[in-house]
This record gives sequence, C-alpha cells and structure tokens, in this order.
Amino acid sequence: MSNTAATAPEISHPSQLPAVDKVLLAIEMQMLRESYGLDACTKAVRDVLTGLRQQLLGFADQPGQTLQADIGSIVQAAQRQLQARFAPRLQPVFNLTGTVLHTNLGRALLPQAAIDAVVQAMSSPANLEYDLEDGSRGDRDDLVESLICELTGAEAATVVNNNAAAVLLVLSTMATGKEVVVSRGELVEIGGAFRIPDVMTRAGARLVEIGTTNRTHEKDYAEAIGENTAALMKVHCSNYAITGFTKAVSDADVARIAHDSNLPMIVDLGSGTLIDMRDWGLPYEVTVRETVESGADIVTFSGDKLLGGPQAGIIVGRKELIARIKKNPLKRALRVGKITLAALEPTLRLYLNPEKLAQELTTLRLFTRKASDMQTQAEQLQPLLQQALGQDYVVETAAMNSQIGSGALPVENLPSFGLRIYPASGKQAGRQLTRLEARFRGLPRPVIGRLHDDALWLDLRCLENPAQALFAAQLSRLA
Ligand SMILES: *Cc1c(COP(=O)(O)O)cnc(C)c1O
Repeated sequence: MSNTAATAPEISHPSQLPAVDKVLLAIEMQMLRESYGLDACTKAVRDVLTGLRQQLLGFADQPGQTLQADIGSIVQAAQRQLQARFAPRLQPVFNLTGTVLHTNLGRALLPQAAIDAVVQAMSSPANLEYDLEDGSRGDRDDLVESLICELTGAEAATVVNNNAAAVLLVLSTMATGKEVVVSRGELVEIGGAFRIPDVMTRAGARLVEIGTTNRTHEKDYAEAIGENTAALMKVHCSNYAITGFTKAVSDADVARIAHDSNLPMIVDLGSGTLIDMRDWGLPYEVTVRETVESGADIVTFSGDKLLGGPQAGIIVGRKELIARIKKNPLKRALRVGKITLAALEPTLRLYLNPEKLAQELTTLRLFTRKASDMQTQAEQLQPLLQQALGQDYVVETAAMNSQIGSGALPVENLPSFGLRIYPASGKQAGRQLTRLEARFRGLPRPVIGRLHDDALWLDLRCLENPAQALFAAQLSRLA
C-alpha cells in the first residue's frame, strides 16, 4: 500500500475502508477463495483491514496523511498473507555444510527402500501389532528385533523414539532410587540439552562420578561400587575427544568389574555403527557388536546417526533386562510409530548385504564419495556460480574437509571438494559475506553453506548428481 500510487483513491480515515464482506465478494477474490477457502480468506482480509485501520488511526495527529486502500491492493495484501500461511514450514534445503549427519538439517537421509516402505505404511493398514500366523495380537518390536540381534550379536532388542529416550528408559528401569557409576570424562552434553547427569536425575537415579576429566582407572570403578549401586555405565565420547595425558578403562574391563560384583554394565554408544567402517576406507568407530562382545549388558544407540535410518533409539542386550525394560510403563510413552518401524526395517536389512551397502545406504554412499567426484562437480559449477554472482564475488574451487557429524568421529575429516566464495573487495567484507549467505538461504530451495576463514564454503559431498541439476537451475536467481 504505497502512498504514491496515482490511480487508486487515497483515504485518510478508517470509515473509508471497505467492509470485509465487500472485499470477499469482489471478483479479484474469487481465485483466492477457490484455493484457500472462505474461512482463511475471511481471516486474511480481516487482518489486512485491521492493519490498515491501525495505520489510519495513527494518522489522527498527522493531518494530510493518506494511504491507498482500494479493493485490488487489499486483495493483494491478503494474497501475500495467505501464501505465507499456507506455505510449508518444513522444506527441503541443500546441505552444503560439509557435515553429512547435520542434526539441524535432519540427520540421515533415508535409503530408497525405507522411503518406499514409509509411503506404503502411511497409505495402507499393516501388521504393526498383529501376528499374521495365528491372527493374534503381536508386538511391534518383533518386526525388527531378530534383524537387530543378527546384526549386533545381542540376545534381545527394543526400539524407542530416540537414543535420549533409550537412555532414559534404561536408567528408569534399572536404576531408579539407586546409583549409577560414570567416569567424569564421559559426562557428555549432546547439542540440544541432552546431558547425561540431567537424564540420570530425571530417571530417578543418582550419578556417582568417578575419576577426573582426563583419567579414570579400574580402581575408580571398583571403589565406587557399594550396596546401592545399580550399574556401571559408559558413555561414548561422541562429540569431543580427550587427548594428551589420558586414561580410560576399556569396555571389557568395566564389564568385568561390574560382573565381579553381579552388576550390569550399560553403554550409551551414541552413534553406534553396525559395520567396521575401515572396510569402507573410513575412520574406525567401535561397533555395536564389539560393544556387546566386550560384555556390555545393555547398549543404546541412535537410528539416524551412523546407522543411516530414521530417528529412533535402539536398545540391545541381555534378554531378561530387555524384558524388564519393555515392561516399564514409560516404554509405552516412548515407543515408536509405524512410520519409524517401516523405515527402520528395510534400512537394517540392507546391512545383510555389505557388498551393496555403500551403494544403497544413502549415508554410507555420501561418506564414501571420492573427493575427485566432488572436484568434477565443483569445476562444472564454478563458472555458473561466478556468472550468477558477478564481479562482486570471487568463486573458486577448493579442497575442503567434510565431517560425519551428529557426534560421530568428531575429530576425523573426510577429504572433500567444493566452492569457496569471498567478496572481491575487502571493503565491508564481513557484511558482504553475511548478505551472500542470506541470498543462498533465500533461494527457492535454500542452500546452507558454512562461513569459515572470511569465505562461504559450499562442500559438494551431499550434492549428488540429480540434485546438482536442481542446484544449478536456481543459481540465476542469485543475481
Ligand atoms: C547423539 C547421542 C545421544 C542422543 O541421541 P538421540 O538419538 O539424538 O536422542 C545420546 N548419547 C550420546 C553419547 C550421543 O552421541
């Protein structure tokens, strides 16, 4: 509603505004009513008129002020509001941050088999808790338990909403009103307010801290055990590394100390991988199977970190403990829905064929992409991007390092390639860079990069080929 348009009449008092009904019945409104319905259109028109009324009332002490409020411009304002209100909030973006499992961008991309299964589970009834053999009531965990056991060597398994829920449920089942012994070097905080000490409190367990930040010894565990001890617990150093003068006690030794006192050992593995990642040329991360074999009685890990599946928390371990965990009333509150199980089952099944895993499991395919592939892409995209941005910016191809992310292997890098963009002139370079980042975020499919060393870095690891075309097609909008 500009104050300058010459054609439309200008008004200066709220009484000159058209009535809501008059706007709704206007011919210009018809298309909007068909798209969005009468209720939403009425609300939008009302909001626009309220805004105009307030603006006009503000004119009371500024005589001579007018604004344009003809039906056409009111409908246009209503349309903008309706478009914004009906636009999806959750939208696809390009993750060019270099962090493959980016928690803020939704972590693992699911394999096609999982996507297909989810679509089917959403559109058809399924045997979620129904035994097709004898027509009786089933248990939703049965859909995946045997697969999980086969892949981890555990006796039993159950699935909950995420790993935080898994840790809460385990502690609430095994340690309420009792003590759990954890090394000070492992009192992890995961982004988004998951702190082991806080979860412990919520589960009604008392944390007994032992050792120091950098060193914990076997005798620290042994001496902490008392008549109130429920378990010894190890927590994976997911998002940090303690280096230098350090000492930690191995899983096997903690398990032995626990078992000598007839206590269980719990491991929160965080990411939890089902494969030896070195077989794919990746850095080593302890596997769930190794942790189970080292003597852990209960192991918890995420479904959407290294595993590459949907958000879930997987609990594996000794049969009698899993049975107790499943009987905890909290299990019902933390259980997963059919969509999660539909995605998890085919994801797990991919692991039965390791030869095809790097091709079919999307996350592993992204982890194992060769830097030379990304270099080829960078060379193709560099001239397009330089052209779109013009002379104000320099676009260069550059070697860079990707990260696995989500607190898996925080100090290991994956050699990658991409584009490095920086302002051509040093004048107000910082502001120019922030503006550039915002322009990428403002594209139809927002592009999320990383600001680092006075440049915007676009790591192409997560831009596989079909997506590259989509990425290139919208670059002209940057201009
Ligand atoms: C990631 C992580 C969690 C939380 O897992 P979510 O699946 O995100 O709930 C808990 N503990 C550790 C050690 C982790 O790395």
